[in-house]
Amino acid sequence: MELEPGIHQLAFGREPLPGFPPPNAFLVCGSESAALIDAGWESEDDHRARAAYLREVNAPPISEIIVTHRHPDHGGGALHMHRETGAPIACHPNDREAIEQERLHGEMTVAREMRHGDKRDLGGISLEAVFAPGHTAGCIALFSPERKALFTSDTVMAVSTTSIAPQDGDLSDYMSTLRMLQDVDARIMYAGHGGPVNDPPRRLEALIRHREERERAILDALRDGPLTPAELRVRIYAGLPEARERLAERQLVTTLVKLIADGAAASEEGDRYALR
Ligand SMILES: [Zn+2]
Ligand SMILES: [Zn+2]
Repeated sequence: MELEPGIHQLAFGREPLPGFPPPNAFLVCGSESAALIDAGWESEDDHRARAAYLREVNAPPISEIIVTHRHPDHGGGALHMHRETGAPIACHPNDREAIEQERLHGEMTVAREMRHGDKRDLGGISLEAVFAPGHTAGCIALFSPERKALFTSDTVMAVSTTSIAPQDGDLSDYMSTLRMLQDVDARIMYAGHGGPVNDPPRRLEALIRHREERERAILDALRDGPLTPAELRVRIYAGLPEARERLAERQLVTTLVKLIADGAAASEEGDRYALR
């Protein structure tokens, strides 16, 4: 689907969670060349659909496949797309090793790095890397100054808040990233799942407020004494479907890790957390 002249959204494949939209890849076409931002899941069917779409819109030669971060719904199809187009794969150095091992199965290496401020001119439209750690350590967004469009991947979405998993995410970094993105002059944000964010300042403000409220709710709950993540989940996410319980507990642990780093909470024996 063409979102605006030369910017296409390719949403193929399965939902990562029930009711959560499939990952978006974006084809950005300039007069000289095109870039593919993300490559969806690793799946033969998805790959065929993406390749057919590229032929259908008669895209200029793809000069680069930019993987926004290490997760399989975004970088999974990168090797397929590399073989299809011959274009090199690029990512931020912090997620490079994971992408090479997990997404490219060690069969090939990431040929180019994209660090904060790195630019790619496609002819009449360019992309600038914005380092946006938090969802993962090497997450990047891409900004087109000509269009004032920011490709935010999983960092900012209209459909959902962002999952920050304790094993590869960091909430303190994520909060800094949200505040940094408030200074990017974006008219629209194209997200890694679902439709665009049409009012970026408002969405960023809401996401920041949501996290701050969650922190306050946890601190309030801990006022009655130490709690495990499961006990906190019962208090904070009452009535959650069972399928979402573990995810919710992981989000709570992520927030607790930040509260510990901030000096507001401490971990105790028996997987309990307490106020400090
Ligand atoms: Zn992700
Ligand atoms: Zn995703």
